[in-house]
Amino acid sequence: MNFGWPLANDAYGKETALHEVGHTLALPHEHQNPKAGIQWNEDAVRASLGGPPNNWSSETIEYNILRKIPANEIAGSDWDPNSIMHYQFQAELIDSPAPYNQQGIFPEPGSSQKDKDWMQKFYPVLESNDYIELKPFISVPLILSPGEQVNFIVKPKNSRDYKFQTFGEADTVMVLFEEENGDPRYLNGDDDSGSEYNALITHKLLRGRTYILRVRLYFAGLSGETAVMMW
Ligand SMILES: [Zn+2]
Repeated sequence: MNFGWPLANDAYGKETALHEVGHTLALPHEHQNPKAGIQWNEDAVRASLGGPPNNWSSETIEYNILRKIPANEIAGSDWDPNSIMHYQFQAELIDSPAPYNQQGIFPEPGSSQKDKDWMQKFYPVLESNDYIELKPFISVPLILSPGEQVNFIVKPKNSRDYKFQTFGEADTVMVLFEEENGDPRYLNGDDDSGSEYNALITHKLLRGRTYILRVRLYFAGLSGETAVMMW
């Protein structure tokens, strides 16, 4: 990650770093939460962010501020004006709701409690008994909610190319790791190479080593009924 300026002595340095790390963990802007219900004074927003120091283009202002994220593309909380993913806004940029059109929106410093709660939901601490052993040619049915993840352990009996695929009506993302000294090391990942939105990974595994496969449902809209198999 490359910040545009030194953060150490910046009044909002810590907030900037937390916010950008939030993006890398797939968090969008909270002021674009479809449940936020902010009615913008669009002319004032364009005048404010189109001028110094941002000098943003009309497209960037639309993308970063005005655009509401479609409800079926995200999972998360109701509007949280204290989220680290929320920008500060002066009152004159907001037509409604009250009281923000009089007092503006100035999130409290740091991550909010909702930020922390949802990050722990999206990225739960994994216990060793969360892992299911995946064996060749035995499919494992899964019913996942958006953002939910299932973890498999793979101990190949032979050194050869293996395929991992999800099946069914679900937009799944699959990532394969090798366990090295107790830590997972990324080997391969796939989103849509299988049929429809299913994921497919082909990778050479070595006998005697231990691998981890994580399967996650990408977003709502599909049933979430899926199965995973390796062969
Ligand atoms: Zn941002």
